[in-house]
Amino acid sequence: MIHIIPICDIKEHEKSPYCHCKPRVDWDNSIVVHNAFDHREAVEIAKEILEEDTMSREHGLNDIINFGKMEGFTVEEAIQADPEYMVWFNDNVESFPLDAECRRLIEHELNRRGL
Ligand SMILES: [Zn+2]
Repeated sequence: MIHIIPICDIKEHEKSPYCHCKPRVDWDNSIVVHNAFDHREAVEIAKEILEEDTMSREHGLNDIINFGKMEGFTVEEAIQADPEYMVWFNDNVESFPLDAECRRLIEHELNRRGL
């Protein structure tokens, strides 16, 4: 569990989802956002952490695609088989973001084919 606790708050917080400040709990990401007793917001910090988490969910070349016409192939195999499809994939499939290395390989494969 990651606890987001307002710094220098007027009362102590417990590192628990059941803290007396009635924190907001994001069970999916294991983040507990505590409420400041002096009403300052920890929301901005929480957003930053969630965004970082989204970045870390990006998929790399060795990840296996689990749906669509490339199901069962790794990202690298799919790019080598059909880089144009993977351009579409990168632009449209929000649930399976590709990392920078994948996007570089797509570019490379398109260039190699003169596309
Ligand atoms: Zn608390």
